[in-house]
Amino acid sequence: MTGNLQQLIQDYYKHGRISDLPTDLFIDGKYCAGSNNEQMESFDPGLAQAFASFACATEEDVERAVVSSEKAYRNVWRKTLPAERSRLLNRAAALLRKNSDLLSVTETIDSGKTLAEAQGDINSSARLLEYYAGAADKLEGETFPLGPDYLSFSLHEPVGVTAHIIPWNYPTSTMIRGIAPALAAGCTAIVKPAETTPFTALLIAGIFKQAGFPDGVLNVINGTGANAGAPLVSHPKVRHVTFTGSVDTGINVMKAAASNVASVTLELGGKSPIIALSDCDMDAAAEGTLWAIFSNAGQICSAGSRLIVERSIHQQLLEKIVEKAKGLSLGHGLRNPSVGAISSELQLGKIDEFLVDAKKRGITIAHGGNKTHDPETGKGWFFEPTILDQISPDDRLIQQEIFGPVLSVQVVDTTDEALDLANGTDFGLAAGIYTRDISKALRLARDIDAGQLYINEYFAGGVEVPFGGNKLSGFGREKGLEALRSYCRVKAVTAKI
Ligand code: NAP
Repeated sequence: MTGNLQQLIQDYYKHGRISDLPTDLFIDGKYCAGSNNEQMESFDPGLAQAFASFACATEEDVERAVVSSEKAYRNVWRKTLPAERSRLLNRAAALLRKNSDLLSVTETIDSGKTLAEAQGDINSSARLLEYYAGAADKLEGETFPLGPDYLSFSLHEPVGVTAHIIPWNYPTSTMIRGIAPALAAGCTAIVKPAETTPFTALLIAGIFKQAGFPDGVLNVINGTGANAGAPLVSHPKVRHVTFTGSVDTGINVMKAAASNVASVTLELGGKSPIIALSDCDMDAAAEGTLWAIFSNAGQICSAGSRLIVERSIHQQLLEKIVEKAKGLSLGHGLRNPSVGAISSELQLGKIDEFLVDAKKRGITIAHGGNKTHDPETGKGWFFEPTILDQISPDDRLIQQEIFGPVLSVQVVDTTDEALDLANGTDFGLAAGIYTRDISKALRLARDIDAGQLYINEYFAGGVEVPFGGNKLSGFGREKGLEALRSYCRVKAVTAKI
C-alpha cells in the first residue's frame, strides 16, 4: 500500500469524510451549484452512514448542460483533429492512473466494494481511455466502385451530443466505457451518475479539465433519475443515449430516445448461467464459479448467478464451492476483505426478500442466506455469500435477477438439457462453460443465446472485446471497436467527375 493510500484511509477513519471532494455539478468546464440548491446525502455502505452530500441537477441544469455540450460539439470538438483527441484521451488516462489512490478510496467508500475491486475499476478505466485514444485517428471510411465517372466514398461523422446514464455497481468504468469511445469519435458527453455513487464521476470531470479537454466536451449532472436522467434522455439535442441499469428503466429510456429518433445502447440485467460438464477441471470450475458470483458482492450485471451442473459431479463440485465460500471474509471495503458491502439499504432489502421467501418455501440453502454486518464494527449493509441448491427451472430464483451474492444451482443429466436451461430465461448477457472437450464447449458457445461466452475462465476478456446482451439484457455493444460505431454516423459522398 502506498503512503498516499494509507494517508487517505487514515484521514477517512479520523474525520469520516474525504477531503476536497467535489460535490457540485460540472457544467461547461466549471463546478457549479444546482439551480435550486437541492442537496442529497451519500452513504458509505460499509458503515451505513452518510459521509458527504452533493448538488442535485434539475431540468434547468440539464438544459444548461445540453447547451454547453452542443456548443462544444459544433464549435470545437468535432473540428478537433483526431490526433489531438487521442493525445487528450492519453493524458486523461495518465492522470487517472496518477490519481488512482484518491479515485479508488472514493469509489470504495461511495459504493461499498473492496479496495482491490475499486483499484481494478480505475485501472480498467485508464486502459479504456488508452484503447480509444489509439482508435480516435483510425475511423476510416470506404470507397465504392461506381465506375470511372464517379468518385464515391463514406465518412464517419460523430453523432453529436451523447448522454450517459450510469449505474452504481461500477461507477467509474461504466462511465468511461461510454464516454471514451464517444469522445474519441468526436462526440461530446453528458454524464448522469447514479444518485448513490456520484463522486468518481465528479473527480473525473476535474481530471479531464486538467488533461486539457475544452469546456463543455464533458459535463456531469448528478441527481436523481426522475429530475436529471429523464429530461436528459428525452432532450431533442441528445443524439445517442448509453444506458446501463435495470430492464424497466432501460425500456423507458429507449422510449424517451425514440421520441427524438435518437439511437441507444442499453446494458441491462442478466441471469447468466455457468455450465459445468462432468469432464471439467473441477477446481477451475469451483474457483471460477466462486468469483463469478461473489465478486463485487454479486452486484455485476454479468455475474454467473446460476450453476448448471451435470448430476455425476453435482455433489463434489457443490462441496468444493461451499468450502471456498466458507473461507471468504466480509467487511468494510477499505480493509480489503474478500467481499465488500451491498451498495444501498434498498438493494440489501431486495436481496433479503428473495431469501426470506426462499426459506419460507423450503429451498435448500447450502451456504449463507442471511443479511449481516461488518463483523469488526457491527455496522454496514452486508449479505452472506449464499448458495442455493437444486432449484427448478421456473423458480423465481432462476428467472429473476437478484443482483447480490446468491448462486442458484440447477442439476442436469445431459449437455442438451444444460443448453435448454442456459437459454431458459428472458436474459442473454453472459454464460460460462467448463469442460475439457473443446468441441462441446464451442457447440454450446454457438447455441447459447448470450452476448459473452467464457470458456474455462469466467469473466475472461478485456477492453478489446465487445460487451453487451441479447434478449432483455440489452441492445448494442460497448468496449472494442464495435462501441465506436454507436457514436458515429456514416455519410456517403458521391461525385460525378
Ligand atoms: P436503475 O434504477 O435502472 O438505474 C440506473 C441509472 O438510471 C441510475 O443512474 C438511475 O438514476 C437512472 N435512472 C432512473 N430512472 C431514470 C429515467 N427515467 N431516465 C433516465 N435515467 C434514469 O438500475 P439500478 O437499480 O441502479 O441498477 C441495477 C440494475 O442495473 C441491475 O438490474 C443490473 O443488472 C443493471 N446493470 C447492468 C449493467 C450492464 O452492463 N449490463 C451494469 C450494471 C448494472 P438514480 O440513481 O437516481 O436512480
